[in-house]
Amino acid sequence: MSEFDLIRAHFAHLGAGRADVVLGVGDDCALLRVPAGQELAVSIDTLVAGVHFLPSVDPEALGHKCLAVGLSDLAAMGAEPAWATLALTLPREDPRWLGAFAAGFAALAREHGLALVGGDTTHGPLSISVQVHGLVPAGQAIRRAGARPGDLVGVSGTLGDAGLALRHLLAGEAVAADSRARLERPTPRVALGLALRGLATAMIDISDGLAADLGHILEESGAASAGGEGRGGGPSSANLAAENLTLASLGDGNRKPPTLRKGSGNPPRLGKGIGNAVSPGYRQLGSGGEAPVLGAEIRLAALPLSPAVSARLARDPDWSLPLASGDDYELCFTLPPERASELPALAERLGLDLTLIGRILPDAGLVCIGPDGGRWTPGQRGYNHFPDAG
Ligand code: ADP
Ligand code: MG
Repeated sequence: MSEFDLIRAHFAHLGAGRADVVLGVGDDCALLRVPAGQELAVSIDTLVAGVHFLPSVDPEALGHKCLAVGLSDLAAMGAEPAWATLALTLPREDPRWLGAFAAGFAALAREHGLALVGGDTTHGPLSISVQVHGLVPAGQAIRRAGARPGDLVGVSGTLGDAGLALRHLLAGEAVAADSRARLERPTPRVALGLALRGLATAMIDISDGLAADLGHILEESGAASAGGEGRGGGPSSANLAAENLTLASLGDGNRKPPTLRKGSGNPPRLGKGIGNAVSPGYRQLGSGGEAPVLGAEIRLAALPLSPAVSARLARDPDWSLPLASGDDYELCFTLPPERASELPALAERLGLDLTLIGRILPDAGLVCIGPDGGRWTPGQRGYNHFPDAG
């Protein structure tokens, strides 16, 4: 089958039909209509076999995941998914593999009203790039830079599930289907991202682990406030490499339930960390005085954990599992304390747990408070769980 036939067979009319697609797959460019008053939110992610996913992964799950990762970025800005382009590098023509991949991609695209409007197909080692395009009313995107001291920190869903599944998989152990799905078929929190417009002051999706990703909010928000920018101010110049995250083993599994619910150890490395499960970490800043950074206080007892992760922590209190393993694709957001009373109704409406886990502090540093009330700060000696990071 020629490349052209291959594309036609699998990708020509993939995803939702949209009136704003003037011209989709088939010409030199797609033509797309951005409505007046809306801004275009654009993000691209590449997944490489052996680095970001196990080559043996189910192609249908892979099709889902490579779009889910992009949708999660749109969610984190409060943008509504609209279009995507797909660059596929394939080692060989395998119509069955392609069909399954396209089916996984298409199902998630339709669920979110997204149309695949173009792409590129080449031969080479398996690699997939997806660029997503979303729409957000001008000025309403939720940036990383809007957090202020006193804001509360919230997260959706539960943390550490993808990391736990990966640890099991790499150890050759059995993985429960629901746990495996958290790693291989993540759910982008698109509806939550949209609902947090006008409520969240800053937001990020948790792809590298809570500590690292909350760290980005602290860096960007600190730089923005130092620059005299208002909430949602201009882009920050801070670009701070993360390194040397250390996390204490705290607590004894005696954890209190998370505050707001809806009604109801390091894995081995493969490449740079399959599924980002090994966080690059969070650098303590502010000591050198170069870049102003905010801090945060996180209560470990409040972290939302699935029964599987809770059970694991009860046996082995290694908090890097919920704090520093990647690929959960939950949202981490900040909001003013006076707006926190709006969260339970939102959690109920979305059918998604929303948990307040801490607050933003004026001074740099991520302070984790253990279930026993003891304090521990990342960066302290003695508990380095990332000896090979950086
Ligand atoms: P060109 O050489 O002009 O870049 P291509 O032959 O690469 O065109 O692609 C032809 C058409 O097919 C274009 O509209 C392109 O966007 C689309 N296309 C190619 N590969 C893919 C893919 N993997 N997914 C979706 N559309 C694709
Ligand atoms: Mg091309």
